[in-house]
Formats: sequence, structure tokens, C-alpha cells
Amino acid sequence: MTGKIYDMVVLGGGPAGATASIYGARMGHRVLLLEKMMVGGEIVSTERLDNYPGFPEGLSGFEFGQLLEKQVLKFEVELAREVIEQVSLSGEEKKVVAGGKEYRGRTLIIATGTIPRMLDVEGEQKLKGKGVSYCAACDAHFFRGKQVAVVAETDAALREAITLAGIVERVYVISRRGSFRSAETLQQKLLSLPNVEMLWKATVGRIEGGEKLDYLQVIQEGSSRTLPVEGIFIYSGRQPNTDILQGSLAVDDRGYILTNEQMETSVPKVYAAGDVRQTPLRQVITAAADGAIAATSANRALRGIS
Ligand SMILES: Cc1cc2nc3c(=O)[nH]c(=O)nc-3n(C[C@H](O)[C@H](O)[C@H](O)COP(=O)(O)OP(=O)(O)OC[C@H]3O[C@@H](n4cnc5c(N)ncnc54)[C@H](O)[C@@H]3O)c2cc1C
Repeated sequence: MTGKIYDMVVLGGGPAGATASIYGARMGHRVLLLEKMMVGGEIVSTERLDNYPGFPEGLSGFEFGQLLEKQVLKFEVELAREVIEQVSLSGEEKKVVAGGKEYRGRTLIIATGTIPRMLDVEGEQKLKGKGVSYCAACDAHFFRGKQVAVVAETDAALREAITLAGIVERVYVISRRGSFRSAETLQQKLLSLPNVEMLWKATVGRIEGGEKLDYLQVIQEGSSRTLPVEGIFIYSGRQPNTDILQGSLAVDDRGYILTNEQMETSVPKVYAAGDVRQTPLRQVITAAADGAIAATSANRALRGIS
């Protein structure tokens, strides 16, 4: 156990957690940021960030993450690159176990974001990282010159399928619907690509393979079909990353943390910010704004300002 007690312990170094840390440190607090990867969060693995104000030319997600990490360290936030394993919210001190060590905070800001929702079909878990992926920007290059499938249950999948089509030999796009709901131009672009085949009203029945993915069994309008692909990219939506909390605070029916406008949760001195909370928009800018508000609320609690 570490002897130190921090004013703010921030869980997750995406835009929400990084911003909360910067604000907390600039308000004169001792801040610990726990993040298992580089600072930047989900956006780090996306190709371009074009809609964040102040960057008219856009920048890569990776570049954005590097800048954010530089800024966090500039303000002397203590960054511990650890996997958070357990959180205890009861009592005055909030306790977090990460990388086998216990950290204590007077206030806690939860900014652990979301994770991809699994399809929940046979073979998916076993072949994760061996052909099953949830991120084209991260893994597309492994499939150069090969055939892959994209499960398109979200509009974001269209952009990813277009990216993949530029790298791999052939893309089968599997959609349980009969048409897409998303932007017309994106759809037209995808459907015009010569190496893209659409499988409408289709679902994945089974993912087959041993050490690597061998093929997919797909059900299309009642008939079964085998797709000879080496990779499958699944876009089936996202879910809040809250397992570590073990039901210790109030969440909505989809598991997103409930907060008020001050980012206060149902537990005193515990705040939530960014994609992990119930919010109408999940973007970098809203996550950063939440982080700033959460740190300001934690500052009020720490200084006894009502
Ligand atoms: C494909 C894609 C494209 C996107 N494009 C855009 C875009 O163009 N513009 C835009 O504004 N937004 C975009 N977004 C949304 C944006 O990435 C998110 O809204 C934003 O990153 C949310 O920030 P956050 O800090 O709340 O969570 P996240 O960015 O998800 O960060 C959470 C952090 O917590 C860490 N963490 C979680 N659990 C643990 C643990 N147990 N131990 C240690 N660390 C942990 C994670 O490693 C992660 O770094 C995109 C998202 C995706 C998936």
C-alpha cells in the first residue's frame, strides 16, 4: 500500500480523465491519473480527429493523444500506467487497486469510457485477437491482401468498412437490416467500391477457427452460407466500462453512470465524466467538458465551497 493520499484520483486517461487531471492539478491539488495505455483514450486508435475546435486541418488520434499526455505531465499530474482492478467507494477515503497496489483519494473521478459490445456468438471470445477485431484502425494492416467481413450494426461501421476496403482484398459487409440509416454520401461511397459485397438481412451464426480464424458461418434470410474470411471486424455498438465498480453507484438501464450537471454521482465525492456516464453526446469535446466540470466539483468539495 502506498502511504500517499491524493486529493483526486482519476480513473482513465481519455479526454475526460486527462482534462479532469489538468484542471485538478491547476487548481493546486495532488492528482493521480490511472491509465493502462497511453493518455488519449478511444480517439488514439482513430485515423483522424477533424471536428475538435482549434485544429482546422484536423490531426490524427495518435497525435492528439500524445499532445494530451504532454499537457497532463506538464502540470505535474502523477501518471500511473496500471490496470485498475478494483474500486471501493464506501467510506471517506476512496480506494483503488491497480497493478496490485492500493491508491487512496479524497475524491474520485471515474472516466473509464466505453468498450465495444460483443456479438456473443460461438467462437468470438476464443478468436479475439486471432482474426476477431473491434478496431479497423488498429488491426486492418494485419489483413492486407486478405478477405475480411465487417459486421455493420452501427453507422460508424460504414466508415471503417471503407477504410478496410482500401487495404484488404475483399470486404463482406454483414447487416441485419435491409438498408443503412446513415449519411447518404457514406453509403454511396461504400456501395460503389468494387471489392465490397453487401450481405443484407444477414447475421453471423458462428466464427470458426483454431489458432486463427478459418471461416464464418452466416445466416442470410434463413439460409446458411460460409464466408472464407481471415478476419471479422465487429461494430455492434458500445457499452460502459464499469465492471470495476461492481454496482456501487447508480446507473441507468444500460449501465451508464447517472450524474447531475455537476458530474456528481449517487456517492458523495465520487464524480463521473465522459462516455461512461449517461449523456446525450459521446465525443471528445463533451468528454473534455465533463472532465473540467468534474474536477471543478471535486475542487469545491475539497475546499469546502458550497
Ligand atoms: C471509431 C471511433 C471514432 C470516433 N471518432 C470521433 C471523432 O471523430 N470526434 C470525436 O469527437 N469523437 C470521436 N469518437 C468518440 C470519442 O473517442 C469518445 O467520445 C471519447 O474518447 C470519450 O472520452 P472518455 O475520456 O470519456 O473515454 P475514453 O476515450 O474511452 O477513455 C477511457 C480511458 O480509460 C482507460 N481505462 C478503462 N478501463 C481501465 C482500467 N480498468 N484500467 C486502466 N485504464 C482503464 C482506457 O484505457 C481509456 O484510455 C470516436 C470513437 C470511436 C470508437
